[in-house]
Amino acid sequence: MKSGKILKRIPLCEPEIRGNEWKYIKECLDTNWVSSVGKYVEKFEHCLADYIGVKHAVACMNGTAALHMALLAAGLRPDEEVLVPALTFIAPANAVRYIGAWPVFIDVDPQTWQMDSRRVVEFLKENCDYRRNRLINRATKRTVKMILPVHILGHPVDMDPIVGIAKRYHLKVIEDVAESIGATYKGRMAGSLGDIGCFSFNGNKIITTGGGGMVVTNDRHIADRVRYLTTQAKDDVVEYIHREIGYNYRLGNIQAAMGVAQMERLKEYIAIKNQIRKRYEEGLRNVEGIALPANASWARSICWLYTILIDGRRYGRSSRELMRRLKKEGIDTRPFWHPLHSLKIFKKCYAHKIRIADQLYWQGLSLPSSVGLAAHEQRRVIQVIRDGGR
Ligand SMILES: *Cc1c(COP(=O)(O)O)cnc(C)c1O
Repeated sequence: MKSGKILKRIPLCEPEIRGNEWKYIKECLDTNWVSSVGKYVEKFEHCLADYIGVKHAVACMNGTAALHMALLAAGLRPDEEVLVPALTFIAPANAVRYIGAWPVFIDVDPQTWQMDSRRVVEFLKENCDYRRNRLINRATKRTVKMILPVHILGHPVDMDPIVGIAKRYHLKVIEDVAESIGATYKGRMAGSLGDIGCFSFNGNKIITTGGGGMVVTNDRHIADRVRYLTTQAKDDVVEYIHREIGYNYRLGNIQAAMGVAQMERLKEYIAIKNQIRKRYEEGLRNVEGIALPANASWARSICWLYTILIDGRRYGRSSRELMRRLKKEGIDTRPFWHPLHSLKIFKKCYAHKIRIADQLYWQGLSLPSSVGLAAHEQRRVIQVIRDGGR
């Protein structure tokens, strides 16, 4: 065999299981409470509601289901419109389409990369007409009903202008907090700022249940409605009477047990993610052609995925070339999501003046950010990026 160290692959973002997961899951198996009824489902819901500081939480099968249910419970109907950022994972836009409603794509802020609240206000004020309590998109003639800010990569959206304009036009605000559980905006928790917050516990998120989601709200009526819709809309549990089409979207007790154990570690994981951010900042601060993510003065980011921008001309390689270079070294990275407004499946959707999302898309690269990322592994990532330019 050739000598030399065999370098371990460095994944992008892996689950971290170091607490009571085994214990709580074993308890489910030992007691036969393995389905969607059980004390851990309720416990997990209470844990999250407490943490976010809201009255109600309803566990769902995954984050996409949580978004789907939140939109339905908030009263979204076919052919109505929902404002969604152009630069995000696709789930929120898909959830809008499940209902037969339409996303309206909004550009992102060049500093924070989040849905640009100035563009939201601009679109609603200048491109819509408010008549008889309805806001109509002049271009499509459809009713604008909701705003769906997505807190991407761990950093919150500038929410005050969004919540303000939503109040003025009686729009509902649904926050997608899948990537940013624990992030705060002016000291307040993301997910508690709008009417409804939606969370994901997919395997790549900061805490995970394998697959899982949650809807949180202070509105009892909405919480009841989500609980009803996620359990097949049973109106009479003995006679099986249903007056509406429901869904089987509830979370299982085993997954909830894992969720409770993961919640116990969330604070610690956020602190670790901030360590990771600091090390990247120190290591990459002075690299020509590389821009580091901003942290707005009003924000506490949980640094879900540390993401940099690469100016190909100044750095000497494009983001995609650097991605392939890192891959050769066994280091996983990922570009930004393809901007949604230019995907074929959304070509019938209205897009409002999008420019920044397209620029960021070509430049962005997310770096390994697992809670379990060792300092020496991170040094390897930093070294390849420092050496990888011209
Ligand atoms: C992961 C994610 C979701 C969806 O969560 P799932 O649990 O995978 O369905 C929704 N929105 C955003 C922004 C995400 O990153």
